[in-house]
Amino acid sequence: MAVATEIQVRDKLYIGGEWVDPSGSETLDVVNSTTEEVIGRIPQSTPQDVDKAVAAARQAFESWSQTSLKDRADCMRQISGALAARSEEIGALVSQELGMPLKLSVQIQAGLPTMTFGSMPQLLEHVVWEQEVGNSQIVREPVGVVGAITPWNYPLHQIALKVAPAIAVGCTVVLKPSEVAPLNAFVLAEIIDEVGLPAGVFNLVTGTGPVVGEAIASHAGIDMVSFTGSTRAGKRVSELAAQSVKPVALELGGKSANVILDDADLQAAVTDGMAKCYLNSGQTCSALTRMLVPRAKLEEAERIAAAVAEQTKVGDPFEEDTRLGPLVSDVQRERVRGYIQKGIDEGAKLVAGGAEAPDGLDRGYFVRPTVFSDVKNGMTIAQEEIFGPVLSIIPYDDEEDAIRIANDSVYGLAGGVWSGDEERAKRVARRIRTGQIEINGGVFNPLAPFGGYKQSGHGREAGSFALEEFLQVKSMQL
Ligand code: NAD
Repeated sequence: MAVATEIQVRDKLYIGGEWVDPSGSETLDVVNSTTEEVIGRIPQSTPQDVDKAVAAARQAFESWSQTSLKDRADCMRQISGALAARSEEIGALVSQELGMPLKLSVQIQAGLPTMTFGSMPQLLEHVVWEQEVGNSQIVREPVGVVGAITPWNYPLHQIALKVAPAIAVGCTVVLKPSEVAPLNAFVLAEIIDEVGLPAGVFNLVTGTGPVVGEAIASHAGIDMVSFTGSTRAGKRVSELAAQSVKPVALELGGKSANVILDDADLQAAVTDGMAKCYLNSGQTCSALTRMLVPRAKLEEAERIAAAVAEQTKVGDPFEEDTRLGPLVSDVQRERVRGYIQKGIDEGAKLVAGGAEAPDGLDRGYFVRPTVFSDVKNGMTIAQEEIFGPVLSIIPYDDEEDAIRIANDSVYGLAGGVWSGDEERAKRVARRIRTGQIEINGGVFNPLAPFGGYKQSGHGREAGSFALEEFLQVKSMQL
């Protein structure tokens, strides 16, 4: 059942190892995306709260950065264990905030953060902390106080991707989670408190981007900002951080192409590609939203895609057979419906779904699983990130044309290539300008570096590359 029994009121911030009152009295509501009911309330922090959190993090940095690898690795193991123990609760919470089907939510929204924290002890062992170059000793040191700003679509996963490696290498953190799905961040703060991380190593401030996010990005006491979210907000964060020349890591939007070559198994490729487009109701930065098929196979691909869309059960994320839950909010639903209408108006061929509400679902932020075919890559639906269950099938003439279309995007986050010949697929994949790319549906690897080319951002998260992001390099000449 998606109905919350009582509203979760979170009226304190976690700063300096304590739950403290926010300096203001303003609050923000958290809404269940299926029932449209308020399920939670959080503080709208102020820049003064950010000052307090930064001061606590600065103070903690002096000693935390000097702790042993073993001590930090032990903390990571404990956090991972506590997350695992609360995985059902976290999964259900995120399903309410966001609408992802429960089973998947437990696996992904709770499972990935557990894995990320749990992977740190081993990853820490592989960092090259010291090396000799001629008469120099090169040492790696934690970058300092990290400001982490995260989105709502994989809320705790995005948090863990920053907080775990930052803390593991000896940084301290001020986190501002998304105000749209923030309740899971409080669970992490509770766990960190129980585990007994020293005061100030991890601090939580909540609220909106323009108030709290901008205070973090421009704060003189923060050494680095790690941001995940829209390209629009990422640009603003960069501008603000530039004033104090802070390093910024940006994980931004995408419009990823799934290139199905003429020798691929079309049924398998289209079916898998649809799943990669519709995951989390299409609210996935690396979603494969542009499906490139040989012109001669366009009709067949359309038929397969339409059948998959029609069989995709839309509904309550707490029902066993639901494959597609609602979108996160009414704003997001209206945006996505607007894009569907735009696709129709610009002349794309609608083969499944549409802009109207799905049958029998008058409540909740639902959108029909939608497929457009014969899409031109210049159309709005092929260029802009929609962040909903909307697939654009784009025909191409030959392999060169497919590569050109795949690269004809301001984004460069992810992609896919399908071929009967893996070497051919890899050759094509090397020419697509994105940070990650799957061959014949290769499964997501949570330890592989994740990040973008072009306006999808810079920097890499996950696995050993994530640790590098939070380290500075010092050379001592002997
Ligand atoms: P968003 O940009 O609206 O918000 C992301 C975070 O930034 C939130 O915490 C928000 O409060 C904050 N924010 C907003 N405006 C800000 C400002 N002016 N200054 C500082 N902070 C600000 O994005 P969203 O709607 O929460 O998430 C969806 C977007 O995130 C999509 O574009 C998606 O592609 C992207 N995303 C990227 C990745 C990745 O790894 N590349 C992963 C997940 C999501």
